Amino acid sequence: MRVVLVGGGVASASTAAGLRKRGLDGEIVLVADEPEPPYERPPLSKEFLGGADVAPARGTQWYADNGVELRLGNRATALDLGGRTVRLADGDEVDYDALVLATGLRARRLPGFDGERVHHLRTVADARRLRAELAGASRLVILGAGFIGCEVASSAVALGKQVTIFEPEPAPLARALGARIGAALLDIHRARGVEVRTGEYVESMDRTADGLVLTSNLGHRMECDLLLVGVGARPNLELAAAAGIATGDGILVDEYGRTSAPDVYALGDVAAQLHHGVRVRVEHHDNALRQGRAVAANLTGEAVPHTDAHWFWSDQYDHTLQSVGRARDLDDLVVRGSVEEQRFAAFSLTDGRIDAVIALNRPGDVLAVRRILHTPHEVTADQLRDESVPLKQMLRAVVS
Ligand SMILES: Cc1cc2nc3c(=O)[nH]c(=O)nc-3n(C[C@H](O)[C@H](O)[C@H](O)COP(=O)(O)OP(=O)(O)OC[C@H]3O[C@@H](n4cnc5c(N)ncnc54)[C@H](O)[C@@H]3O)c2cc1C
Repeated sequence: MRVVLVGGGVASASTAAGLRKRGLDGEIVLVADEPEPPYERPPLSKEFLGGADVAPARGTQWYADNGVELRLGNRATALDLGGRTVRLADGDEVDYDALVLATGLRARRLPGFDGERVHHLRTVADARRLRAELAGASRLVILGAGFIGCEVASSAVALGKQVTIFEPEPAPLARALGARIGAALLDIHRARGVEVRTGEYVESMDRTADGLVLTSNLGHRMECDLLLVGVGARPNLELAAAAGIATGDGILVDEYGRTSAPDVYALGDVAAQLHHGVRVRVEHHDNALRQGRAVAANLTGEAVPHTDAHWFWSDQYDHTLQSVGRARDLDDLVVRGSVEEQRFAAFSLTDGRIDAVIALNRPGDVLAVRRILHTPHEVTADQLRDESVPLKQMLRAVVS
């Protein structure tokens, strides 16, 4: 049996590791367009910009020891589902018995915002370029206060840079986390000296001899040395779509990671998965790892649906934001702790059941919820607000 993994991110690495752990003794081929073996992307907006090394998902020796053939710097350009082959950019064709698509995302680009001094951040090559140019820059402007924008702002401030963020929404991460938590993040960034221009976006960019001049929708003009465009990412689904595999906002898969094509799986950031009956595409590291383990199980004959709760973290300054689950209504959260004091857990509660928690600097609360999220339980808003009972103890008691 030969399993071909297309994509060089942690989703592929996790699947390869899962396959060997489960005793698959067939061939595994990992095809990646980036020149490095799979590495961790989360540090790229955080400690990497401060000088840390690239963090490989697995040491190079692991692939050799586990018989995983790496085809790096080589893009998969076409799939022949009938003939069960993957065509590579170097002209080679690789046969497969099972194919796993983990092609991830690419940074979204804005027309007119590219070229010298303009940055996007998805790959280690992007991060190297940004790190090198940040060293000689004093003023960075960021378009978009999403996770990447907020994390790079925090890293750039630590390097002594002057940072401005343009964000059309009223607060950072407002769409992902709601207005109230967004407002808390706004305070955090402003307290660190970041100029966060909410309700405003950049309409045009001009070049001068030594920098860029940006003009906003409100007519504000601002000079900067570097611009980071952090306005989201798009799934790399064209390879699958061109072969006739069903796609939507990602490659469509069921709970087992199966696409519409026989023996073709998809996972990680590119997959629009069925999760507890809802179709979602999840752009979080932990999901890629867990889905990889589930796909490996399915490929080795054990039907394992990926039902684990979706969890993520984001580090900004000395704050840790974490969330697990999917909130029903971000404007209707039950808060335990204090948003103003920047230490809280905000719960989404539906008919006495927790659907999600978003927490700032309360990792223990997130862990406690993660353990029971998809287990039957019943809890009230008043109970959750009551800090006299430790959450772990409370949640243990309400599981039925
Ligand atoms: C800067 C940054 C910071 C992040 N921080 C966090 C964080 O703090 N917390 C968190 O939970 N998540 C974070 N994430 C998200 C997390 O890194 C992703 O969820 C994870 O990388 C997804 O892994 P993946 O393998 O599905 O996709 P990717 O990591 O996108 O890997 C896909 C790979 O496939 C390659 N590829 C695409 N098409 C082809 C092809 N045709 N042939 C060959 N190769 C191809 C791509 O170039 C890429 O190398 C961050 C992401 C970034 C970019």
